[in-house]
Amino acid sequence: MPELPEVEVVREGLARYVAGRTIRAADVLHPRAVRRHPGGPVDFARLLAGAVVEQVRRRGKYLWLPLSTGSVLVGHLGMSGQLLVQPASAADGRHLRVRLHFRDDGPQLRFVDQRTFGGLAVAPATGPGGLPAELAHIAPDPLDPELDDTAFAAALRRRRTNVKRALLDQTLISGVGNIYADEALWRARLHYARPTETLPRPSAIRLLAALREVMTAALAVGGTSFDALYVNVNGESGYFERGLEVYGRAGRPCRRCGTPIRRDPFMNRSSYTCPACQPLPRRAHW
Ligand SMILES: [Zn+2]
Repeated sequence: MPELPEVEVVREGLARYVAGRTIRAADVLHPRAVRRHPGGPVDFARLLAGAVVEQVRRRGKYLWLPLSTGSVLVGHLGMSGQLLVQPASAADGRHLRVRLHFRDDGPQLRFVDQRTFGGLAVAPATGPGGLPAELAHIAPDPLDPELDDTAFAAALRRRRTNVKRALLDQTLISGVGNIYADEALWRARLHYARPTETLPRPSAIRLLAALREVMTAALAVGGTSFDALYVNVNGESGYFERGLEVYGRAGRPCRRCGTPIRRDPFMNRSSYTCPACQPLPRRAHW
């Protein structure tokens, strides 16, 4: 699942290549890719024809493109979705699901999805700040200037869960998945099973700072391409996996203290920690 840096990389590319252009037509090649659009493929294409893409914005792992018509094009990459900007002459490929043609006949926007867990929809902009209603419940992410440190720390401590589960729950903070949660916890020297209610406010604020640091560093190199499917709009992968300190490094020495990194099963995935830098708290919350 791509996390915030990988989705932000796509947002930057779309802002560069698609913003300001007028959509001429949309081809839906697979109806599953627009299953979140209540009116179906024909209505989806009708609402896009003639609309100008005014901006490209992001909320957590969702992209939303405000249109001149007052509606919003919402995109979710899911596990394997890609938004690519390609010339009309480029071959379609087996997993092409949706294609947008622009009035200038320049490069097309193509939604490619091997597994079709992601998708596109056109929605009315009824939420705060023109946000579509379906994204209104998603919390701001670590790089959003709207996110308030003190409010985050207080909300985190009110959760009756462990700190990693709280980070992955998109209603407290969004855009954080397994990779960056583990990296930030290592930087903040916190164990993932630490009960949120035992976290002093300075530790919660330190954790948020660690999330911002690791995500900013990942963004600078185009995100992490743990999965070859995480690419920018030109189909290129980032290389932050070289900068990962704990994630995927089970058995290898901690870069801070040399202790072998430990891998534990966690919510059908894994958690990576340094047993010395991130000791198990006396009271743990599994
Ligand atoms: Zn260590």
